[in-house]
Amino acid sequence: MEKLILIKYGELSTKKANINLFLKQLKDNVSYALQAKHVAIKFDKGRMFISFKEDNFREVVEELRHVFGIHEFEIAYKLTNKDAEDIATSVLNLVKSKEFNTFKVITKRSDKNFPFTSMDFSKKIGGVLLKNIPNIRVDVHNPELLVHVELRMDAVYIYFNSEVGIGGYPVGVAGKGMLMLSGGIDSPVAGYMAIKRGVKLECMYFESPPHTSIEAKNKVIALAQKLALYNNEIKLHVIKFTDIQTTIYQNCPHEYLITIMRRMMYRIAERVARMNNCKIVVNGESIGQVASQTLTSMNVINEVVRIPVIRPVACFDKLEIIDIAKKIDTYETSILPFEDCCTIFVPEHPVINPTFESAREYEKLFDYEDLLYKAIKNHEVIKISAKEKHEEFKDLL
Ligand code: ATP
Ligand code: MG
Repeated sequence: MEKLILIKYGELSTKKANINLFLKQLKDNVSYALQAKHVAIKFDKGRMFISFKEDNFREVVEELRHVFGIHEFEIAYKLTNKDAEDIATSVLNLVKSKEFNTFKVITKRSDKNFPFTSMDFSKKIGGVLLKNIPNIRVDVHNPELLVHVELRMDAVYIYFNSEVGIGGYPVGVAGKGMLMLSGGIDSPVAGYMAIKRGVKLECMYFESPPHTSIEAKNKVIALAQKLALYNNEIKLHVIKFTDIQTTIYQNCPHEYLITIMRRMMYRIAERVARMNNCKIVVNGESIGQVASQTLTSMNVINEVVRIPVIRPVACFDKLEIIDIAKKIDTYETSILPFEDCCTIFVPEHPVINPTFESAREYEKLFDYEDLLYKAIKNHEVIKISAKEKHEEFKDLL
């Protein structure tokens, strides 16, 4: 009996119009996730089969738990012999090692030459189990153990209770988005949530050397690598923000530093997003968290761009965000104590209710277009894969 993994993608059929696109993307993503695992992947109507050449079952299951678009999968046993008695014996042998009191057999027959109807075969298997295993009974409504028998043309597949997948949509089906990724807790979580909806991310990080350290940058690279696990790989755009920040500092009233700085970030994010075919900008802003995230501030900052800005954690409490950060294993990295460019140049009393007029007025005090152009033209791109270790931040991982 061969042990394999069976992925059902029935759930995706809710998206009728896009089903082919979804399936192709899911297949590509599963193939990518398992490329180094020496498995064979076979696609058949409504099913994906993963068979093994070496003893790496657990590792493969672990990979699949990171692939969005998989809602559930089964650890299945394949029988090429379709003799009814042999199937029943095999089911019995598999079930013997399980602990349960109640069960139900579900047979699915796509091989119409098989000499039992689905219903009759379920009864037959149920009978064999009841006869051979003491103290169990059938419960059709709420069984502890589900016994699935699929009689397909090529073989028979036996499996039990499903493993829950991560859900969501296959990464890439929604198109691309640009995540503003800082070293904080919020933005990696925001990124994860966007990926879950099928958005393939690129990331953008603003650094201000020498005021920000190489450790701060490496921390962001480490976070991007955690996200790459869900995103296949990630392109990280690193923008040198020092000149822009110092110019604002020298020219504008300090209570407006953050407002204007964030307007500049948004402008750069929109432009680089469009250059890279990203249809949205994603960030980790959360309503009311800091002065720049009051509704008034958000309005004044948001007015400089036309691209949609998606804020997945906008309505989450910090504790809710932290929960997700722990779940996706970014939290420990996020709380490493290296300062971002946002935390340097922070004025003592940032304006909580900035006005459009003042922000526009203060920006006229320097030639920001030239600075934005240079920052974009000279920006660095780092390709990050979840699989390979990046030398510069191996100590952080
Ligand atoms: P924290 O988790 O401590 O709140 P944060 O990253 O959310 O950190 P904020 O000052 O709240 O920091 O910034 C709001 C959002 O703006 C971030 O979630 C991120 O999307 C974006 N952002 C801030 N600083 C940077 C930066 N240096 N590079 C890229 N994006 C940034
Ligand atoms: Mg925040």
